[in-house]
This record gives sequence, C-alpha cells and structure tokens, in this order.
Amino acid sequence: MEYSQYGKVGPMVSRLGFGVMRLPPTKGGGWGTVHFPKSSRIIRHALDAGVNFLDSHHDYHEGLSEEAIGKALKGWKGRRVYIQTKTPMYRPEPLSYFKKRLEEALEKTGVCPIDYLFFHSLRKKSFEERGDLFFKLTDWAANRGYIRFRGFSSHDSPENVRAFIDTGEFDAMLLSYNWQKPTMQETIAYGADRGMGVSVMNPLGGGSLAVDTPPILRLLPGAETGAEVALRYVLGTPGVTVALSGLNNHQHVDENAAIASMRNPMTARQWRTFQHRLESIQQKADAVCTHCGYCMPCPEGVDIPQNFLLFNRATFFGMNEFARSGFRKLREHKDGDKSAFACEKCGACVSKCPNEVDIPEQLEEVADLLA
Ligand code: SF4
Ligand code: SF4
Repeated sequence: MEYSQYGKVGPMVSRLGFGVMRLPPTKGGGWGTVHFPKSSRIIRHALDAGVNFLDSHHDYHEGLSEEAIGKALKGWKGRRVYIQTKTPMYRPEPLSYFKKRLEEALEKTGVCPIDYLFFHSLRKKSFEERGDLFFKLTDWAANRGYIRFRGFSSHDSPENVRAFIDTGEFDAMLLSYNWQKPTMQETIAYGADRGMGVSVMNPLGGGSLAVDTPPILRLLPGAETGAEVALRYVLGTPGVTVALSGLNNHQHVDENAAIASMRNPMTARQWRTFQHRLESIQQKADAVCTHCGYCMPCPEGVDIPQNFLLFNRATFFGMNEFARSGFRKLREHKDGDKSAFACEKCGACVSKCPNEVDIPEQLEEVADLLA
C-alpha cells in the first residue's frame, strides 16, 4: 500500500480509503441495517491490506456505520487507523444536537479523538447559514480533545469550493471526482496547493465505471479492468491524497488495494494518452448531445439530456448495463415516463438546440437501443 500526507498538517494515510457506507446488511435487512460480523471481517481485511483511513458519517446506515467501525477496531493491534466522519449540518438543529451526535460517534467508534470532522455537503447557502455553527462545534470539540482537524465534503460548483478553501478554515475536503466527471480537477490541485488534504468520493462512478469494455480499457493501455482504469485515473490526478471506495467484499478490497499499491498509478505519458483518447471519444459523443439542457422543458416530460447521456454512455463507452438501467429508471419515474418513449414528436424542442440535433428522430434511436 502507498501512503500520502493528508494535507500540510495531516497524517500519512493510505491512498485507498474505506468509505464505510455500503456495508453488508443483515439477512433480509435494508440500508438501515448492518451485518456486524461480516462488516468487521471486511474492514479488518482492508486494514490487513494496509488501509489506514476510514470515512464515515453520523448518518450512514442510519447511524450504524460508526458502530461497525467500533466493532471492527475493537482489539485491533495493527497500525494506527485514521477516522474521518461527517456531521449533518443540514439539519435545522441547535449546537447541542451536533455536540451530542459527535459524543455518540466517539462512543460508537471507541476512538478519541476522531481525526477529522466534516461539514457534510457544504454549499454556499449552508456555509452562510450554518458555517459559524460548525466552527463553534469544531472549536468546542477540538478544545475537549474530541477531534483533531476539520473539513468539508461538497457537491457545490468549483468556484464555490474554491471560496471555501480560501477561507483558510479547513484542513481537508472530500469531493466527487472521476474520469467521467472531472470538473473538480483544477479545484483539487488548488486545494492541495493550499495545504488541504483531498479525498475523493465516487472514484468508480458509483460502480458504473467498473466495466471492462474495450473503449474504457483503451483509455489506459495495460490496465486489465475498468475499475483499474478509474482508480488509477483518480490516484494519478495531481493533488488527490486518498480515493475512497465503498468496499463491500474481500475481492473488492484486494483489487483496489493492489492498485493503490502502485507507486506511480499514472505516468505523465499515460496521463496525456488518457486525456487525448477521452477527448476524442467525448467529441464524438458531443456531436450527439452536450447535455446543455437548452431544449428543456419538454411538454411531455421527456428528460432529453438524460436520455442522450445514457445513449452516449452505451454507444461510445460500451456501458450498456448502466445505460439500460438508467433508461428503465426514466421510464418508471415517479412523476411519469421521462424516457424517449414519451416523446410525441411535437417538435417544440428542435429549434432550441444549439447542436441542431434532430431530437425526435434521435430519441427514436435511443428507445431502440436502450429499451
Ligand atoms: S419533440 Fe418530443 S422531446 Fe421534443 S418537446 Fe416534443 S415531445 Fe418533447
Ligand atoms: S439542446 Fe441539444 S445538445 Fe442541449 S441537451 Fe438538448 S439535445 Fe442535447
């Protein structure tokens, strides 16, 4: 396993982190349950493979993920394990509530101090409304020796994330980033240059990039799986400290750990080849649709950009299963059919498209391919 310093003042952490949010449930149980013995075995397996960084949230698995960490770490005598957890500042609760949640997290994990406490899903608005409360919480917690550092996770725009970085108040951040969604690339480098630890969520696009199709494997010659392509891309991005993976079985752990053990996941030459090939595929996909959304709304409720996005994923990246499952979700949407099948060919969208896509005709192709 390779290790990297988590920001200017942080510890050395494994380049693969365990995102503790997809633990095995109990038999017949759902999201709000955790099979603790199985979870402990997987977490221990990851620790044995060199992982020393666990990422959680007070609310993952309805509060049980922190308990799962505690059970897995009980009696652990190996290397020091670093814990990052998040507090749900989006809840309209007073300071006392968040203090209590943190005290519960300390008790559940059996770890004190918790290394990182994050403002979960920070946005410009929530920063303005709840930032001071979070700083009060973290100051109180640091004074009591409950936490060491503070940070944020965010899905906000790159500009707003840079503004959070520029406050100088945070030690680390967690952003969503992968080769299909590289918009945070410069922001990651920006944060790292300013001493922030950077962890990445969704390195495998929620599993959608872990497919071994020829167009995906061609992005990184020599890679054997789509998961390898995706993880090496993230770990090879300048500024990324740790990629979080929602590991839920021993095989996942082994595969991901092997990739995170590469000293140089992406050479400069491989990076250039990757970008070049990706851009060339993207150009072809953009000729179909750039997903700008100018054609919306459709009077029949068709989600035009999303239909074309799925079509492009299938056509240009071979992500057929991902695309078909996405298409099914559009068809069965709770607000009515949003798939290409709902198009009545009224033509209202056509003149709005800067790409001059013949939308109704193209939607027929989408339906043929993905139905
Ligand atoms: S042509 Fe089809 S997709 Fe376009 S606005 Fe009409 S119903 Fe919607
Ligand atoms: S306006 Fe054209 S390019 Fe933009 S989302 Fe609609 S179909 Fe795609």
